[in-house]
Amino acid sequence: MSLQQQLSKLKSRESGTRNTKPAHPPKKVKPSSGQVENAASGASAAQASPQPGTKRHISEVLSSSDTSLEDNLTEVESVGKSKPPPITVHRVTDFLKFSTLVTKDSPKDNPTTTKTLANSNVKVLTHSDDEYRRVIKLLQDSKYEYHHFQLKSEKPFRIVIRGLNPATPATEIKEGLEKVGHTVRSANNISFKKKDGESVKTIKLPLFFVDLEPRPNNKEVMEVRYLAYQRISVESPKPCKDVPQCKRCQLFGHTKNYCTLSPKCVKCGSSHLTAECTKAPNIEPTCANCSEAHPASWRGCHKYKEIYKSSRIQARPLQTSTSLSGTDKATASYSQVVDLQEIATDTYSQSLGKTRDSDPVLKQIFNLLSNLSKRLDQLENNGPGNALVKTNYRKFKNGG
Ligand SMILES: [Zn+2]
Ligand SMILES: [Zn+2]
Ligand SMILES: [Zn+2]
Repeated sequence: MSLQQQLSKLKSRESGTRNTKPAHPPKKVKPSSGQVENAASGASAAQASPQPGTKRHISEVLSSSDTSLEDNLTEVESVGKSKPPPITVHRVTDFLKFSTLVTKDSPKDNPTTTKTLANSNVKVLTHSDDEYRRVIKLLQDSKYEYHHFQLKSEKPFRIVIRGLNPATPATEIKEGLEKVGHTVRSANNISFKKKDGESVKTIKLPLFFVDLEPRPNNKEVMEVRYLAYQRISVESPKPCKDVPQCKRCQLFGHTKNYCTLSPKCVKCGSSHLTAECTKAPNIEPTCANCSEAHPASWRGCHKYKEIYKSSRIQARPLQTSTSLSGTDKATASYSQVVDLQEIATDTYSQSLGKTRDSDPVLKQIFNLLSNLSKRLDQLENNGPGNALVKTNYRKFKNGG
């Protein structure tokens, strides 16, 4: 593919992502008619509380089902053998001690290495699943604070089943799929809340998110047409370009199931889990990321916007070199997303500049993307009318 074709493809893709830019919801969002959220049980009080800016209209969910950016992180790497994702260790004060700990017993032929990031964070890079697990265990035992990602080999195969009555018990879904050779890890119905006068009604949709254990036959499930005596269709979740946010530490680019950082409250920004918050409702919230008066989950937060913008621009130059001619899925590698936090603390132009200046083609693409980014900003400033508001059923898809 010529550069011109690549650029025009990038251009058309950029315009196609217009509707996925972050929305600017009001500070206080109450459940209202037609908003969707995940019906999965077991959500903590933090998750159950309204998440400003994380809802979207029901019609969007009915017509599409998307999955978090993190869910797709491994997609790019799915060709050939997949490398374990990096582990980012925060606040490493004694680097030499740390380095000895993680590298000492690593394989001699393909040793574990580190890369130092801003704010004394260190990224640990392993080369096999076993070594990855070994390092995680070491970090756990030594009480380091870190975030990481699910190994590709442990990642479930995620599907959307459409047309299944919400009353269908999860056990029937499991049994039905087992009969045709698939093992179900979890099955969750999707519902939304509708305001009805003073009360809020939960409306269940004929839509289920199902996670299968990873197996070589996973793709065959797409052909299943009947389940529990019902006519159904099976779809892949659509990629979501939103940036995941950790519900434990409120930082971006990872989720709480893979985080051991000190907790930060989404409401008051203090060092406790959101579920333990004692803030009175009449007291203004404080953002854990920017200290302004909004919950840390508000998509209008300038920290979120910076990271979102970086993620959109960062994803593209890499795509041109790795997968432009391949899949159309908007996917990013682990390192791209992990670097978001780095960019947030560093400056994004510095990080990008290094790549851009070393390659004239990238430089050209970078210039094009900068212009596109400006145009996106202009569109964004045209008001929230056409903005796609993300749903908090992300929390199911994020696994956390
Ligand atoms: Zn976290
Ligand atoms: Zn709090
Ligand atoms: Zn903020």
